[in-house]
Formats: sequence, structure tokens, C-alpha cells
Amino acid sequence: MQTTSTNSAEPSSPALDRQSLRPDCGKCFALCCTAFGFARSADFALDKPPGSPCQNLAPDFSCTIHDSLRPRGFRGCTVFDCFGAGQNLSQGLFAGKSWLENPETKDEMFSAFKAARQLHEMLWYLAEAQTRTFDPDTSRRAVQLRNRIEHAVCGELPELLSLDIQDLHSQVRSTLMDVSAEVRASYFAAGDDHLESALKPGADLMGKSLRSRQLCGADLRGAYLIGADLRGSDFSGVDLLGADFRDARLERADLSKALYLTQPQLNAARGSRATLLPSDLKMPSHWHNG
Ligand code: SF4
Repeated sequence: MQTTSTNSAEPSSPALDRQSLRPDCGKCFALCCTAFGFARSADFALDKPPGSPCQNLAPDFSCTIHDSLRPRGFRGCTVFDCFGAGQNLSQGLFAGKSWLENPETKDEMFSAFKAARQLHEMLWYLAEAQTRTFDPDTSRRAVQLRNRIEHAVCGELPELLSLDIQDLHSQVRSTLMDVSAEVRASYFAAGDDHLESALKPGADLMGKSLRSRQLCGADLRGAYLIGADLRGSDFSGVDLLGADFRDARLERADLSKALYLTQPQLNAARGSRATLLPSDLKMPSHWHNG
């Protein structure tokens, strides 16, 4: 991750390279496989208490069933993404010393990871907000927030653990919504009135057919798109912040200019090589045969 040594605003700061917010599991102490707790479900085949290693975790922090997670009932593991928090914390604040080597750091490391993961996700969104806005004031706000967050995740552990994440989250959300309004205003959604009234934040579009639609400029923040048929649709300028894409059909959809799309959303969906993605997101491996 690019880091800054100050939390002051630098309006001319270059946009954050989102590649630094991609997970690098080889440099992480399997924090996602230990810190969180899971109840047995369709996404995770066993009960796992928080703060304990998953029974499929090897001593070298690799997953012993990595190549067969989905067929063995661990689909949730293929969807999760830490936005680079795992390796940043393992190699940064904890200086390459794992919870196995230093068991006394375990509780703090897992608590720090839960906080850092949320902060890294905010960085992902802020990086996009900074590049999509044409408003210098909004860009400056995005940079200020980004600097504060980078300072927290790369600074001292007590600072990170005592951070008011909810307050920060509210400020980030406000900035993201301003950029969303600005971006969406440059698009004109084409289509019938009935469809336009259904396209709103938090909309329940589960299982609906929105196939080959021009959804450009819609606000689908927090929408439920579970199992929806979105094949061949155009998502240019569509706000997808927190939209639920589980099992949504995205074959041939154009998501290359969608707003606030994340890797976990794609990982949860179904798509194919013909799905157009933003350049800093990867086609999920389970799409390869789609
Ligand atoms: S199944 Fe594998 S990837 Fe999932 S939590 Fe367990 S060790 Fe980690």
C-alpha cells in the first residue's frame, strides 16, 4: 500500500493504486481463516468459533482444500476478500511475526484485522471516488479521508484499536454518495417508467429479469440482486455500493464503468469471460467455464 506520514490533506495527491488493496495471501497469517467466527451454513460447512484456526488450515497458513472449496461446502471462502488488510497488518503493524510465533499477540492481531478490513474496504471506495469526481472539493475530502485511514492502518496499534470506525464510515459514506450523484447525473437511463421506478437504493430485485437492459446511471446501492438475470445489461454509471449479487447472472453484462463494484460482489455472482469488468477487478476463477 502507498502510505503517507501525515493526516493532512494533500489535494493534489495521486489516486491510490487499488492493486495495493488486492489480497496477497502468501504474505498474510491466514487472518481471515482465524479471526472470524462462522456458523455452519450453505457458505461454510462447519461451525468455527472466532479467534480460532479453521480445521482446514495448514501450519504454513495455506488452505488444505483450496482447490475444492466450493464442492466441499466452503463457497464463502471463495467470496471473501480482505482488500489487502491481511498482508498489510501481518507485515506492517505485526512486523512479520505471526500469531503462531507470538501467541500473546493473537487477540490484538485478530481485533486489528477486523478493524483494518473495514478500513481497507473504505480505501477501495475512496480511491474510486477520487478518480470519478470532477469536483475539487469532493476530491479533497476523499483524499483527507484516505490519508486518515492510511495513517490508522499503518500507524500504531492502540490508535487502530481505538478508532471510531462508525464515525469514519459515516464520513466516507457521505463522500461516496456525493460522487455517486455526480457520476449518475451524467447518464440518462433509457427504458420504461415501470423499470425506472423499480431501480432504487435497497430495491428488492431478487430473481427478477433485467436482461439486456440499459441500467446506466441507476442507483442500486444496497439492492438485492440475488439470482437476478442481468445478462447483457449495461451498468455504466450504476451505483452498486453494497448491492447483493449472490448467484446473479452477469454473462455478457458490461460492468466496466460501474460505480463501487468490489471483488466479493463478483465472486458471489455468476458470469463468463464475456462479462466486461473494471480493469482493477479480476474474473473469478469459477467463471472460467461459464
Ligand atoms: S476452508 Fe480454507 S480458506 Fe476457508 S477458512 Fe478454512 S482454511 Fe481458510
